[in-house]
Amino acid sequence: EEIVIKSSMHDYTITMGEGIRSQLSNFLSKAYSSILIVTDEKVGELFLEDVLAGLDNEHIFHTSINAGEQSKDIATFYKLQTIALECGLDRNSLIIALGGGVVGDLAGFVAATFMRGVDYIQMPTTILAHDSSVGGKVAINHEYGKNLIGSFYPPTAVIYDMETLSTLPTKEVRSGYAELVKEALITDHITLVNVLKADLNNLIPSKLSRDLRAGIMTKAAIVQQDEKEAGVRKYLNLGHTLGHALESYHGYGKLTHGEAVAIGTLFSLHISEDLFHTNLPYKEIYDWMKVNDYPLHAKLLSDTEVLIKKMKADKKTVDNNIQMVLLETTGKPVNRIVSDEALQTYLHSFSKRLV
Ligand code: NAD
Ligand code: ZN
Repeated sequence: EEIVIKSSMHDYTITMGEGIRSQLSNFLSKAYSSILIVTDEKVGELFLEDVLAGLDNEHIFHTSINAGEQSKDIATFYKLQTIALECGLDRNSLIIALGGGVVGDLAGFVAATFMRGVDYIQMPTTILAHDSSVGGKVAINHEYGKNLIGSFYPPTAVIYDMETLSTLPTKEVRSGYAELVKEALITDHITLVNVLKADLNNLIPSKLSRDLRAGIMTKAAIVQQDEKEAGVRKYLNLGHTLGHALESYHGYGKLTHGEAVAIGTLFSLHISEDLFHTNLPYKEIYDWMKVNDYPLHAKLLSDTEVLIKKMKADKKTVDNNIQMVLLETTGKPVNRIVSDEALQTYLHSFSKRLV
């Protein structure tokens, strides 16, 4: 199954399938001088051999980073550049990102900058990476905040092997589904009731593929309309202003990206209900998140002042004012400035709704 994404640099194809991780040669459109596979220790253990078996290039190298968000840093970025140089990669080489969003963002940013840019292929292995592997955003974190150093650099192709998802721990399933909930709230490519039918402790592969396909269609529609995030692409940040602050405050890796975004999404709904007085699906989402063991703990929000400070590091901040994506109604997102004082109040009233 293929979805083509149009981009100002070059179009690229997303292929979804079963077992395609070991057929990579079929997807290479040219002869690369060498290939560097970047993966993390866990994913490498599970799938690197399969990927290697499907490649017939003479110069293939691979390297594993530590699993987890902590690896999306400048030190690991620099180490990968060094490895690429030592392996003798040149401008006609290919980098393959085999893993979740961490490997994808990091290896993608290495590809964007190595010798001013080489081709790279995204091989997502998490549910969340249906989102991160599409749209060409690549980045690493700065201690001041998430994804603050990066680029727009579309992949040459995305090869999404659904089989790899069967080994995902439930925590990572939760993380990925938070982005699907977000997508369902901002567009009509996926409907929320469908997403909320998922039992995350007992995923049905056919339902998962359908949800992911719908998620990719959502992402595709938005990034094709607004590749560089001048307008509608901002709406994909629903839940991410508080989400990123929570990730950064609690230490990358304590909460998964999606768990943090889940809390952030509820927070956006909480504010939206107050501002727009509309009937938003807060309760439906909250109940589903509870049943599926999302960490919705009020104590995660206790240090409101620091959280607000962290929220300001967000790339949407204008003149020191925090802008958030809110919902006028389901499917109708808007960008609004929310003052520090209002945020204080909302964080307090919101944490009372979390038990
Ligand atoms: P991740 O890459 O850290 O993967 C999560 C964990 O699952 C890791 O421990 C990994 O080793 C493990 N794992 C991966 N695949 C597995 C598999 N098939 N079986 C078993 N274990 C597996 O995290 P993620 O949630 O995939 O991605 C999060 C990152 O994505 C964040 O840094 C976020 O900022 C970024 N992101 C980027 C974009 C974008 O547009 N570029 C969009 C959304 C998120
Ligand atoms: Zn996200």
